[in-house]
Amino acid sequence: MVRLIAILIVTSSGLVAAGQPSPVDLVPRPVHAELHDGSFEIGPATPILVASSLPEARGVAEYLRDQLKKRTGLSPAIKSVEPLAVSDGAITLMIGLRSEARMEALQCDLLVRRERALIVSSTTESAFHGVQTFLQLLDRKSPQGAAANWHVPSISIRDFPRYPHRGMLLDCGRHFMDKAFVKRYIDLLAFHKMNVLHWHLTEDQGWRIEIRKYPKLTEIGAWRKARDDEKPTRGDLYGGFYTQEDVREIVAYAKSRFVIVIPEIEMPGHCLAALASYPELSCNGTPLAVGREWGVIEDVYCAGNERVFEFLQDVLSEVLELFPSELIHIGGDECPKKRWQQCLKCQFRMRAEGLKDEHELQSYFIRRVEKFLNSRGRRLVGWDEILEGGLAPNATVQSWRGLDGAIAAARSGHDVICSPTSHCYLDYPQEPNPAAPEWMGFIDLKKAYSFVPAPPDLTAEQLRHVLGLEGNIWTERAPQERVDHQVFPRLCALAEVAWSPASTRNWEDFERRMRTHYRRLDELGVTYCVPAPRVVVDGKPLGDPAAIPASAEIMLENPFHAGEIRFTLDGSEPEKDSPAYARSFELDRPLRLRAATWLPGGNHSDSIDIRLTPK
Ligand SMILES: [Zn+2]
Repeated sequence: MVRLIAILIVTSSGLVAAGQPSPVDLVPRPVHAELHDGSFEIGPATPILVASSLPEARGVAEYLRDQLKKRTGLSPAIKSVEPLAVSDGAITLMIGLRSEARMEALQCDLLVRRERALIVSSTTESAFHGVQTFLQLLDRKSPQGAAANWHVPSISIRDFPRYPHRGMLLDCGRHFMDKAFVKRYIDLLAFHKMNVLHWHLTEDQGWRIEIRKYPKLTEIGAWRKARDDEKPTRGDLYGGFYTQEDVREIVAYAKSRFVIVIPEIEMPGHCLAALASYPELSCNGTPLAVGREWGVIEDVYCAGNERVFEFLQDVLSEVLELFPSELIHIGGDECPKKRWQQCLKCQFRMRAEGLKDEHELQSYFIRRVEKFLNSRGRRLVGWDEILEGGLAPNATVQSWRGLDGAIAAARSGHDVICSPTSHCYLDYPQEPNPAAPEWMGFIDLKKAYSFVPAPPDLTAEQLRHVLGLEGNIWTERAPQERVDHQVFPRLCALAEVAWSPASTRNWEDFERRMRTHYRRLDELGVTYCVPAPRVVVDGKPLGDPAAIPASAEIMLENPFHAGEIRFTLDGSEPEKDSPAYARSFELDRPLRLRAATWLPGGNHSDSIDIRLTPK
């Protein structure tokens, strides 16, 4: 007999100071929003108006038209007019109102009424962000009769970003990702008002960018022996690379979405694929194979060999031709010093340059590369290991081992990007996962949302060096088809941390808005992670399922706080239309319980499968 007890809804308290709930379900949350009565309807005859004197505005209008077409099937006409005036029945893009002194540098206002929709911005970039807001607000009215209309609620929004650097890293070194996938990733960044793709292009396990002067980098370095769980893509090899044409295409695509692509060319470590292509660049010059195992590899570029610096300058020269980004990432992380300690050339370099240890040799290496980049008008960014042995004079530091690197760099007047493993490492699981390495633990959505990129012990002046944040998806355990699952929905939390004012942070409100946002992600085909339900026995997490106290109360908890738990007791896999869990129950006989959380759009968690046996 199953005794029914009223369900307890486990709610969580906010981790950070809570702002007022937002009146509208946007992600990231805008600086200010006020809802009004009614809505603006978009029909086949609704035009998009832009000023003909602003050619770049037309690009944003075309983007809006294309997205509207994709979503609604409507194809609004773009009308370039002069002078541009607000018109009823139209979507008007007013860009470049710099005369309004009260506007923030990247401000965009959305003024939607029954009669008209107006996007007013200071720059083309901020207009693009206003368009993203507009697209998130777009909704289908329940069809009245035959015709279904599209509408945007009447609303006044004032919006601008908190941080200038709102990024995501994509590691295409461990696993190659195809061009269409990278473009889709860029679209998803833009949809969340993120503006940096940090593209990790070289690794021990693969060199992914064509360098014309060194063809072996992609003939040899782009291919490794497939692992047991991988489908080979060339003979028994796995891999791939981007031609320079591919790279140009991706960079241009990103630019049209106001996303800057920062390439990362790893040095002096994480370069086994390059050393397999050109063994003479390592300390001992012996033949090496492109990496197949994950981890930190001892073979690194020889810091005593001039040919290494010539090679890297040649590589970077071609990279700079392809990427207009001011920041160029050179890695700098996880470089073991063992080979340098045993290498005559490296030891000779240390004596000649008066370097007291191998950390100073690494610093010498980075400084040389920085000098080269600076001479070409670019700025070097590296992981926080570049602080060891002395920081290069103009370097930007990306802090990943906590925020200590960010604090040290900001205190010495260097710019920083925050990506601590604790909140920003999106390769870590989102729920407890025994299959993942134990040291990873897990970062759930709430934890990601609680990230504070502004370390409290920095002064206001030092805080100005915090450019923003990046979420990192390292792909040892995430080939292309797994990336969505790892990145989402945590990207949404990091996007809000980077965009929205700290004063509006409110976990419960974010979680509520996300329920609407999951529908948008469903529509975009994003297979975000839904954590599995958890079994609670007499108010405590399930211990040994074979030893449940007699008459224990069994409850299923949904840590996602969205969707519904569906369960079966007959051993079958729970489906969308399996019974919905509503009540806790008393365990009075052995049961096989299978359960999964299902979202209305069809996305769902893995199912749990537990045999519960009372003592
Ligand atoms: Zn050496």
